[in-house]
Amino acid sequence: MTEPRPFLVGGEWRRSDTVEEVRFPYDHSPVDTFCLAGATDLEDAVRSAQEGFGRTRRLPAHERIRILKRFAWLIEERKEDLSRLITLEAGKTSALARAEVDRAKETILLSAEEAGRIYGEILPLDLTPAAGGRTGYLRRFPIGTVLAITPFNFPFNLACHKIGPAVAAGNAVILKPATKTPLSSLLLGSLLIEAGYPAEAVSVLPCTPDLAEWLVRDERIAYLSFTGSPGVGWRLKEIAGRKRVGLELGGNAAAIVHADADLPYAAERIVQGGFSNAGQVCISVQRVFIHRDVYDDCLAMILERTGALAVGDPRDSRTDIGPMISEAAAAEAEEKVREAVFEGASVLAGGKREGTLFLPTVLADTVPTMRVNATEVFAPVITVTPYDTFEEALAMANDSVFGLQTGIFTDGFDRVFTAFEECEAGALMVNDVPTFRADAMPYGGAKASGLGREGPRYAIEEMTTMRLMVLNRR
Ligand code: NAD
Repeated sequence: MTEPRPFLVGGEWRRSDTVEEVRFPYDHSPVDTFCLAGATDLEDAVRSAQEGFGRTRRLPAHERIRILKRFAWLIEERKEDLSRLITLEAGKTSALARAEVDRAKETILLSAEEAGRIYGEILPLDLTPAAGGRTGYLRRFPIGTVLAITPFNFPFNLACHKIGPAVAAGNAVILKPATKTPLSSLLLGSLLIEAGYPAEAVSVLPCTPDLAEWLVRDERIAYLSFTGSPGVGWRLKEIAGRKRVGLELGGNAAAIVHADADLPYAAERIVQGGFSNAGQVCISVQRVFIHRDVYDDCLAMILERTGALAVGDPRDSRTDIGPMISEAAAAEAEEKVREAVFEGASVLAGGKREGTLFLPTVLADTVPTMRVNATEVFAPVITVTPYDTFEEALAMANDSVFGLQTGIFTDGFDRVFTAFEECEAGALMVNDVPTFRADAMPYGGAKASGLGREGPRYAIEEMTTMRLMVLNRR
């Protein structure tokens, strides 16, 4: 029996008596065990981060760039290990797991580039007579200790989206990974130290929600960067005190297919955007609105492509859709589908599950108040609804408490700009699904979907603080 994996407290690997197991979501077989950090470890991590920040904040940009580039190189070197861990802990197909590691490497390289672009401003202050002769000199400084709390569905790249910018800015980091998927994050911690970042400024602490909340309340933490479910995220903001908070939360993203769209392309993207990673993507396509003139044709194409998807063991290269993270998550989604059917929805594809495997599901005849539309389903389930006017489709897409991203398929110039002006989401994808994300772009939600933006350049803004110096020419 191998020893349970230790956690990382300011560069020191520690074990505890509280051991948890990671199980492979496909067949529930044991993958590995790991130790949970306790209250003393958290206190030590915060103290160590404060000490470490004394070093990290003084690292010149060329050092931070060199460390990040080496970190990216180490990720590339450990790509096979990392992607295997992601498949085993998250149930992600091998192809998606490899793509996640590739993206994580890019996220770190983008962070390295941005580390060299943390500029300030020179402000002429002679706009009022009283400020005559004064010039402002504005610079960004690292904020302090960044607490990163991450979800299970992209366990590695989403951690890199927090750690990369934090290092680029010169902050200390405490990473609290999801306890279902801690293995890739523990490896991340060791690679970051191997890359040369001051070890006392690096902690990776799988722990219980209670203890994670203790960290969130701690005033020595300067910034909370949380990615996860809306309920947890907004609660953490309430207890976070004076610290700055970034929230990347969930949604029920909409895709609109207008009558002038390239239907085969739209259908292909919708099937990919709705079912990839078993629908466990915050910007997964959930609600599809199709112009009535092309509804039957587009739906037939969606159903044909859905029927061709292979569901099964994520380690098998022929599998398109792997398992959901847990039986409980799959059962909850099944319950939402069952409830919709009871209220009048029709199942056009899927609608069934076996253990954690959920068949890609297409529902018609739904109404906005059903939970398959009104809540985040976070499973391979889409609803399809016909519409008559583009304005009506936009109103339906906006009819949500969430607003992460929206996708529209149309060639109409006027419709594109109307949608851009009216869309109540963090981003509009034109001729694409809302599921598109490039790691460099500003990414984040409106309404209940979050607060602030990620993407290295934008995350660095959140993880730095401005300080002004006024020079008086006398
Ligand atoms: P979750 O909210 O259950 O967990 C997220 C993290 O918060 C985990 O590390 C978890 O251990 C921790 N956590 C849970 N309760 C806590 C508490 N009381 N105090 C402190 N920490 C706590 O989410 P999940 O199931 O891991 O992930 C799925 C959710 O994440 C979905 O809602 C999805 O939309 C969202 N998500 C959003 C984005 C984005 O960028 N907007 C990306 C991926 C996932």
